[in-house]
Amino acid sequence: MIVIENLVKTYPAAAGAGEVSALRGIDLEIAEGEIFGIVGPSGAGKSTLLRCLNLLESPTSGRIVLRGDDVSQLTGAGQRQARRRIGTVFQQFNLLHSRTVRANVEFPLELAGLGRTQRRARADELIELVGLAGKEKAFPSQLSGGQQQRVGIARALASEPDVLLCDEATSALDPDTTDQVLDLLAELNGRIGVTVVLITHELGVLRRICTSAARLDDGRIAETGRILDLVGTP
Ligand code: ADP
Ligand code: ADP
Repeated sequence: MIVIENLVKTYPAAAGAGEVSALRGIDLEIAEGEIFGIVGPSGAGKSTLLRCLNLLESPTSGRIVLRGDDVSQLTGAGQRQARRRIGTVFQQFNLLHSRTVRANVEFPLELAGLGRTQRRARADELIELVGLAGKEKAFPSQLSGGQQQRVGIARALASEPDVLLCDEATSALDPDTTDQVLDLLAELNGRIGVTVVLITHELGVLRRICTSAARLDDGRIAETGRILDLVGTP
């Protein structure tokens, strides 16, 4: 599903500082249908890896192969198209506050050029899928944090991505809500088969739903395997 080969990301030197090696040669394989966790301390390179995976950042070298297609060197229309194969769920939800739940979920479909009727039908299906039926016309400010993240998940699924990439997606939520959102991700993984990649600094998050994981440290994979085998797992 996803093959990452010798991925390197070096940020150029800025005022008063030398260059930063954020990723120092990452090799990783994530199988179809997995819930794969990426864990590591602050500064380990998790966000950089995530921005490379969702094509917001170009790696310095190396490859990211998604279902056989090298997506790491794309530009322009090819890159925009490939981005639709990867849905991202953000820590702070990143919803449009002046738009309703339905309009938020419709937004990527609007960008993709889908007609109004189709957009609406698709958005309402997704809203139901994440357990928010009846909230179509609500505004984000009228929802709890957990509900807002459900909208974020529905929006990320709108383009039927191969991969759902979760960036500290539960870090802004309380423990009970965290568990509910994680359980929803596991349910979606089982039901629609979407591969989930979860980036987190919390081992508890990994343990609840991930099938496999990698621990990142100082821009390198320190270990990878089944959750319970990870040396760093307390
Ligand atoms: P994590 O998400 O695990 O906390 P990051 O990927 O944010 O790690 O950071 C890895 C390293 O790269 C850190 O040393 C960080 O300071 C550096 N870094 C991240 N983004 C940038 C950037 N845009 N410019 C320069 N250095 C960066
Ligand atoms: P049903 O409940 O009709 O049997 P599923 O449970 O397979 O259908 O899927 C429920 C909804 O999820 C459907 O609206 C379907 O279009 C949507 N769906 C299926 N696969 C994906 C995917 N990879 N990404 C986003 N949505 C999907």
